[in-house]
Amino acid sequence: MNSKATQYTIRNINQQGDFRGFPPPVHRKTMAAKTLTPDRPVQFLKTVGPVRAAALRRLGVETAMDLIRHLPRNHLDRTRIVPIGRLRPGDDATVVGEVLTSGEMRTRRGGSLQTVSVSDESGVIFCVWFNQRYILKQFRSGDRVMFSGMVQSHGGRRQLAHPDFEVLTADTDHLHTGRLVPVYPLTAGIGQHWLRKLIHATLAELGPSLNDPLPVKLRRRRQLVGLAEALQGMHYPADHAELDRARRRLIYQELLEIQLVMALRRGLRGRRSGVALAKPGDLTRRLVDGLPFSLTGAQRRVLAEMLADLRSGQAMHRLLQGDVGSGKTLVALIGCLFAIEQGYQALLMAPTEVLALQHGRTLRRYAEPLGVTVESLTGATGSGERKRILAAAGAGEVDLLVGTHAVIQDSVRLPRLAVAVVDEQHRFGVRQRGRSARNEDDLPVHLLVMSATPIPRSLALTLYSDLDLSIIDELPAGREPVETRLVSSRKEDAVYIECRRLAEDGQQGFVVFPVVEESEKLDIKAATVEAAHLAQGVFSDLRVGLVHGRLKARQKQAVMEAFAGGEIDILVATTVVEVGVDVPGATWMVIHSPERFGLAQLHQLRGRIGRGGGRAWCHLLASDQMSEESRHRLRYFAANTDGFRLAEEDLRLRGPGDLWGVRQHGVPGFQLANPLRDGDLAAEAAEDVQALVASDPELSSAAWRPMRRSLSETYGKVVPLASG
Ligand code: ADP
Ligand code: MG
Repeated sequence: MNSKATQYTIRNINQQGDFRGFPPPVHRKTMAAKTLTPDRPVQFLKTVGPVRAAALRRLGVETAMDLIRHLPRNHLDRTRIVPIGRLRPGDDATVVGEVLTSGEMRTRRGGSLQTVSVSDESGVIFCVWFNQRYILKQFRSGDRVMFSGMVQSHGGRRQLAHPDFEVLTADTDHLHTGRLVPVYPLTAGIGQHWLRKLIHATLAELGPSLNDPLPVKLRRRRQLVGLAEALQGMHYPADHAELDRARRRLIYQELLEIQLVMALRRGLRGRRSGVALAKPGDLTRRLVDGLPFSLTGAQRRVLAEMLADLRSGQAMHRLLQGDVGSGKTLVALIGCLFAIEQGYQALLMAPTEVLALQHGRTLRRYAEPLGVTVESLTGATGSGERKRILAAAGAGEVDLLVGTHAVIQDSVRLPRLAVAVVDEQHRFGVRQRGRSARNEDDLPVHLLVMSATPIPRSLALTLYSDLDLSIIDELPAGREPVETRLVSSRKEDAVYIECRRLAEDGQQGFVVFPVVEESEKLDIKAATVEAAHLAQGVFSDLRVGLVHGRLKARQKQAVMEAFAGGEIDILVATTVVEVGVDVPGATWMVIHSPERFGLAQLHQLRGRIGRGGGRAWCHLLASDQMSEESRHRLRYFAANTDGFRLAEEDLRLRGPGDLWGVRQHGVPGFQLANPLRDGDLAAEAAEDVQALVASDPELSSAAWRPMRRSLSETYGKVVPLASG
């Protein structure tokens, strides 16, 4: 279409003097007698009141500041005025015209239909509303009005159904039409129009007095707009460029803030010493000497890094990254033993019950022959047992306490605690990491967090920048890559017969079903039915077990123990086996509906087999109807066994999701930033933080004081920012 001839923009309408009132003036309401402050409860803003305030609270909006930080989901581009004669059904279009007639009709169902006809020099169109008694009061014939809405075809006639509109006068505030129009997340009782007006008015009133936490000098250097301008630009941008500038500024601020928080934390730690572990005994040596294998070079290197921290007198704060099966647990155990042999206690936290119980078993097997007391504490622990363990821990009689994070909380006292290990860190997120355990002398505990999921550089810069990094980049010798095959689910029977042969040969295996939250019950049922089917059918003379997320912790524990102990040949499982389960005798796995898993998840699953060395097989039973994209992804998975490459591909295909706790575990200050996408800004912010830490480590200069205040507002409840 020839846009110049047929569509004209707001700007050239104005140049043609077509009507008054353009460009849309930014209308400043005169200041209320009482100046609006950012912390004013929304209830007291004009047009709100208690009922709407309660609804707004559901959107997380309590104060005037929250309101202007309630950002639009997106904007409707209503900047182009289309001649009425050119409207096509299906367009979201904006027109300007003169009201000809207006009227009301009864509908057959007993409702009412309001109609307004509008014309410009190219044609006439009807605007219609249902049951909007009062709408007609807003129009008089001869009014110039701007309408925006969806063009429909009704009985061969074009109409705009329930359009947004604004009657054009000399001082029309354009909020709903003729501009980039914000679309807000809503909740019951809150309408889009009303919210637009409220936010617009609040912005106008509050904007000029807002305190910008970013110093002018920094803003100038990084070419960032001021806070008031950025918020104005996020809600009511003049054009896309302004919206981009606004977004960039706010993203930068979020990335800078999280890094400052990490830097402040690091600074705090630096000044406080940890438990000094200076005189090693012989437990670690005895453990290593007694192993049936020797440590890999990478394990040795990481151990050296860790032990240097533990001896330094300053609290360790280290992230241990290593692919599935690279032997992180053993490294962690040696770290714990190093403390234990000097009379201290250690703590290991796991993200799931299954994993906590397994860690308990493994560590007991290694450590008890050395005279070390290991106890496990999970949701499955009976209350009597729990009491006993807590008492023993408090009396310093438990050397190593293993459990789920949910269980190891304030009621647990470990007076001689020196080392805390957190397994599969990305499942916990930043919040929990901030709540580190304390010991009797209130010295910071040495912290080791472990992750099998590689953390991209931009995340390492942001969410994890308070941690030192150690990497195990080598698998134990003798590990063969798992042979992975993508098979049509039609060939299921043949696959099972193959697995049957392995099972008869004493090789254990998993049959895995996906379970997602939305269809959890159905998914678990499918797994249960299949388990029964297998137990009576192809595996009828073998021992089949079933474990899924809805089982009681005690039942889960019993099944996992039976499997680990070789009393079960085939374990039908939902994704509870995903993380960390270590059963060296397991050599095969069948995964149903593999397209429903992400690559990193599949990698975790596959990492459960072949851990005892030797050959191992993974069968992906995929539906023939799977999308081309899924097929591509699964082929990639079958051909690659390197967790780092798979994680990269996963990231490329699916975005960060919840892999690294970016979303799910809520980094409190992140509303817009995605460190994975905004890597460049993250790097710029990292530079600025570094410079700042060198010159003003506590943000005490006048330029940075507003930032410091803003940080404690955003993060203060979540992570300690100051000592004491
Ligand atoms: P992950 O890094 O996935 O947590 P684990 O610590 O569970 O890995 O170790 C995987 C398996 O490899 C365990 O059965 C463990 O005993 C074994 N293992 C650990 N280190 C070595 C090594 N150096 N040589 C051989 N096997 C090892
Ligand atoms: Mg592990």
